[in-house]
Formats: sequence, C-alpha cells, structure tokens
Amino acid sequence: MTDCIFCKIIDGEIPSKKIYEDELIYAFEDINAQAPVHFLVIPKKHIKSIDDIDTEDENLIGKIFTKIKEIAKAEGLDNGYRVVINCKDDGGQTVDHLHFHILGGRSLNWPPG
Ligand code: 5GP
Ligand code: ZN
Repeated sequence: MTDCIFCKIIDGEIPSKKIYEDELIYAFEDINAQAPVHFLVIPKKHIKSIDDIDTEDENLIGKIFTKIKEIAKAEGLDNGYRVVINCKDDGGQTVDHLHFHILGGRSLNWPPG
C-alpha cells in the first residue's frame, strides 16, 4: 500500500487524463492547469524528488527527457514550452513523487515569482 497520490494515479486507483504511458513513464494532464497545455510526466518508479535521484536512475531520467520532447510535439507545442521540476519545500513541491511539469500553449513569463 502506498499513500502517494501519483503512485495511485499510475495504478489507476485515482483517475487521471492519461496522455502517454510506457513501462517506465506515465504522463497525464495536471488537474489545476496553469497554461492552455499543462501536463505532468512522472517515472513509474517512486522517486521522491530530484534530491532522491540515484546514479542507477540516470538512464530513466534521460529517457524522460526524450519522451517529453515527443509528447510535447504530439500535443502541438511546436512554438516551445517550459519544463519545471519543483524540489522540496522552497521549490514549491507539493506531491512527493518526482514530476516534470510541461507548460505551453501561451507565452510564459520569466522569471517566475
Ligand atoms: P508540485 O507543486 O508538487 O510541483 O506539483 C504538483 C502538481 O500536481 C500540481 O500542479 C497539482 O495541480 C497536481 N495534482 C495534484 N493532485 C493531482 C491529482 O490528483 N490529479 C492530477 N491530475 N494532478 C494533480
Ligand atoms: Zn509515488
């Protein structure tokens, strides 16, 4: 049993709007979209945060970026997009399962607040 909401989403215990799935990765729409396109890409392996990535995860993290590029293209983000990873409290992380926010479909402000 896990208390992690993203592990529950991967297991189908909590419903989600799936965008992509393979044996290592799951992608789904963010429930509180901050841009016209806002989805999350997560490893199926429960890794808590960037600070918990191990050397054995390096291939997985690399694959996630290759997939982000492919999914962004499939979602029509030809004009660009932003990838955000919030890490722990000061980074604004609220779900303790590593996730990559993909935001696009409008011009995004920089720097963030
Ligand atoms: P964080 O603040 O940890 O970087 O981002 C967590 C993200 O997960 C937030 O953007 C939030 O809207 C999203 N989120 C939280 N709970 C759920 C959920 O149950 N379903 C979906 N689809 N997104 C969620
Ligand atoms: Zn998890």
